[in-house]
Amino acid sequence: MDPLKALADAERKPYWLDSPARPEPRPRLFGNTSADLVVVGGGFSGLWTALMAKERDPSQDVVLLEGRRIGWAATGRNGGFCMATLTHGLANGLERWPEDIDRLERMGVENLDEIERTLERHGVDCSFERTGELHVATEPWQLDGLNDHLDLISDLGLDYVPLDREQVRAEVNSPTYLGGLWERSGCAMLDPARLAWGLREACLRLGVRVYERSPVRSMDDDGVTIGLRTPYGVARGRRVALGTGVFPPLLRRLKHFVVPVYDYALMTEPLTDAQLAEVGWRNRQGVGDSGNQFHYYRLTDDNRVLWGGYDAVYYNGGLVKPEYEQRDETFVKLAGHFYETFPQLDGVRFTHRWGGVIDTCSRFSAFYGQAHGGRLAYAAGYTGMGVGATRFGANVMLDLLSGERTERTELRMVKEKPFPFPPEPVRSGVIQFTRWSIAQADQHQGRRNLWLRTLDRMGLGFDS
Ligand SMILES: Cc1cc2nc3c(=O)[nH]c(=O)nc-3n(C[C@H](O)[C@H](O)[C@H](O)COP(=O)(O)OP(=O)(O)OC[C@H]3O[C@@H](n4cnc5c(N)ncnc54)[C@H](O)[C@@H]3O)c2cc1C
Repeated sequence: MDPLKALADAERKPYWLDSPARPEPRPRLFGNTSADLVVVGGGFSGLWTALMAKERDPSQDVVLLEGRRIGWAATGRNGGFCMATLTHGLANGLERWPEDIDRLERMGVENLDEIERTLERHGVDCSFERTGELHVATEPWQLDGLNDHLDLISDLGLDYVPLDREQVRAEVNSPTYLGGLWERSGCAMLDPARLAWGLREACLRLGVRVYERSPVRSMDDDGVTIGLRTPYGVARGRRVALGTGVFPPLLRRLKHFVVPVYDYALMTEPLTDAQLAEVGWRNRQGVGDSGNQFHYYRLTDDNRVLWGGYDAVYYNGGLVKPEYEQRDETFVKLAGHFYETFPQLDGVRFTHRWGGVIDTCSRFSAFYGQAHGGRLAYAAGYTGMGVGATRFGANVMLDLLSGERTERTELRMVKEKPFPFPPEPVRSGVIQFTRWSIAQADQHQGRRNLWLRTLDRMGLGFDS
């Protein structure tokens, strides 16, 4: 089907947020208030922090300040792949923190298990399905990459199933697949907006005071409490946790470590039973292909296909702007790739198209830290894999604020910071050249040019 025709009626808004389940916003902060802990940010990072602070100590008074609506940003726009990995994949973790990899993998699975238990405990219905993820190869060089990965996995005793061409097509039927790896327990599919709204509800039930449409404009410190000034009020906290993602940071030092990268997605209309039967997909795994520029895709609970990824766009100057959330060039490209992957779904149309901004850092996995004499903690830099990992990051922030040394705070990953990005305009030049090099590698059997090899040697890179 002509991609332009297939997109003609697609709404220009995130599918997950376009739902009757979206709750009315909580009131703005008016006047002054104080609390034991003030959390800034109402995405997964802030929501998990507020919820777990209350679970750790129900007598604590906790305030959460969200600048717009709960879950409106990356949290309500993502693919809904809730992964165990805390390191943006095994290979990245192994390369950076080989001595801790067993522990990081174990802690990641525990984190995912605890997410599942929290949903049960608080009755959060977000269509959580622990289907795992199917990594597929669509080019011979990607098959080599998966086989290398398999060697590592067997050494670490992880639960992956290798699939040859026929076996992978028996799972999900695409003529483009050459082989695959099914990571069985390390990933769940969920509806991210319903997760965010469910966490908000759980926070409210435990007594967290949630204020929406209350952007924090500035911070001050009187030595005992930190004040967070919003347009109509101030919240003072003995402790403060920042879960503000990639937005202009309240702590200046963070701007060196994260850059905004836009990622785009499409949602189809629900597949009919006959269309679904043509694709198979009985085990409903999330799927990711294995190029440097990759697609991710999955079924929703009403059997639509979410299809996203490939272009990861950095706009020169590094600003976050509403107009960047729509990019027709990318939508047309994504639609074309969808029909190449599933020619049997030729008549299927798209109902939604949207983009969202990712907090990319140069090591791809989040970093953590403290300021104001240890009374403020932050976590950022999830680089497109924060649906599950933000809960771990929230626990790190709470550990740091409590002053306790825990297994988490002792990890080198937690103690170290990523390499900073250079300032603009050099930053734009370096990132655009890296993006170009990545696209070239995909067109030349994965061969990485001198620039990418140099970055690899320095442990640096660009990803989404
Ligand atoms: C298109 C897309 C697809 C993705 N797919 C996946 C996926 O499948 N799996 C996965 O694991 N990850 C995915 N991600 C990444 C994932 O969505 C993020 O890692 C995660 O949501 C980050 O949560 P967060 O709370 O840190 O940030 P955000 O969701 O960005 O939330 C930050 C919040 O802080 C608020 N805020 C910022 N500054 C202030 C302030 N000064 N005052 C008050 N509030 C403030 C913002 O308004 C915002 O609501 C994807 C992201 C995108 C954009």
